[in-house]
Amino acid sequence: MAKNITLIGAGIVGIATASYLRRDGHAVTVVDMRPPGEYCSFGNAGILSPGSCVPQALPGVLGKVPGYLSDPLGPLAIRPGHFLKALPWFLQLVAASRLSRVEQIANALRPLLKQTFDAYAPLVQHAQVTDLIRQTGYTVAYSSRAAFERDALPWKLRRDRGVLMEELDAAGVKTKVPQLNGHYEAGLYLPEQGYVANPERLTKSLAAQLQKDGGRILQRKVLDIEVGPDGPRALVTDAGNMPLETLVLCAGSHSNEFTMKLGDKVPLEAERGYHVTFSDPRMTLPMPVFLPQQKVFVTPMEMGLRIAGQSEFAGNEAAPNYSRADVLEKQMQTIFPGISCVDATKWMGRRPSMPDSLPVIGPASKVPNVYYAFGHGHVGLCGGAPTGRALADLIAGRPPAVDLAPFRVTRF
Ligand SMILES: Cc1cc2nc3c(=O)[nH]c(=O)nc-3n(C[C@H](O)[C@H](O)[C@H](O)COP(=O)(O)OP(=O)(O)OC[C@H]3O[C@@H](n4cnc5c(N)ncnc54)[C@H](O)[C@@H]3O)c2cc1C
Repeated sequence: MAKNITLIGAGIVGIATASYLRRDGHAVTVVDMRPPGEYCSFGNAGILSPGSCVPQALPGVLGKVPGYLSDPLGPLAIRPGHFLKALPWFLQLVAASRLSRVEQIANALRPLLKQTFDAYAPLVQHAQVTDLIRQTGYTVAYSSRAAFERDALPWKLRRDRGVLMEELDAAGVKTKVPQLNGHYEAGLYLPEQGYVANPERLTKSLAAQLQKDGGRILQRKVLDIEVGPDGPRALVTDAGNMPLETLVLCAGSHSNEFTMKLGDKVPLEAERGYHVTFSDPRMTLPMPVFLPQQKVFVTPMEMGLRIAGQSEFAGNEAAPNYSRADVLEKQMQTIFPGISCVDATKWMGRRPSMPDSLPVIGPASKVPNVYYAFGHGHVGLCGGAPTGRALADLIAGRPPAVDLAPFRVTRF
């Protein structure tokens, strides 16, 4: 039966979910204080990775943190004023890093993300933007064989779950990406992975198609949710109240501002990342490159070459610290010594990150007619369309193709 469904959030997760709900014939309204795709979904690395099933925290994570924090070019920063606030989240992250839990997390993520290309296909075909999706594979490059061998676990976790990969020696890395003219002794090629050539255009194109199909997108800030005994009653917005029947919360790193009101306590951090996009780099790449030692991806976007990475914990509201992006720019010059750095633009975005690297997908635990779709952390682009499809199945009473039990909100 068709329902009236309101979604909070017009990022890739909200727009993909709204698109799948509209395909089922529901009346769909998306509410966001910004135009579609202008928050975290604007500037990610664009990687679509059916194999990204490895959580952020692996055994031994605690021992690595001091090294990361003391390295000015390192991938991690915690603002001193935010440390105590984030401490419970970090403790949960450490608890999720034991090997048995890591295996469970990988078992849950792999079936969800495996669907990424398949779940985006009908959406991009309908919106006539198939050109955005490129299944080129990606190359992983390590400066030394020893560093590659130290990183055996994340690749084993992927390989054990059927992710295809080909080992590369120095010559193999160079053959895959001839532009990598530094010294890389070892690496991998993962043929089933790929990328979105412009993540902002993807979300905006799907949003425009949703509107053509009769979906509504309203630019309003949600201030509160009125809840009654039978479920949500109204959204309180800066442009007045909106009556509610069924609600889907996809507000990215702000989602926990509303879950408390709905009776669910959720550990969610804004894990801030940065990008630098070089619009005239004087080189192109045949595919994205992942440099695990720096924890960065370099992606050939339609806007130029983009390097993206960094994890900064400072909360949602603190101003960006663009010296984190300067770190990426320096790394780019080391990875591709010939690159032209004129016309570089810098950006900061807030990954909605859960301490166990699993998103929250499924019904609220206390209030009927409320569903959650947030917390995708580093894989929200990969996870957007698969999440939307699974949630539409759930709302329609069809069994989702993915087991959603590991993503339930009550797991903490
Ligand atoms: C540097 C970087 C690189 C990344 N690379 C990749 C990658 O290669 N592949 C990948 O899969 N993922 C990647 N990610 C992660 C990915 O970008 C995110 O997981 C994803 O964009 C989250 O989408 P979302 O729709 O949940 O959130 P968002 O895009 O943040 O959307 C949430 C929306 O909710 C709205 N909202 C919040 N509060 C309110 C309110 N009160 N009222 C109205 N609206 C509200 C916001 O305005 C926003 O538009 C990367 C992230 C970063 C930062």
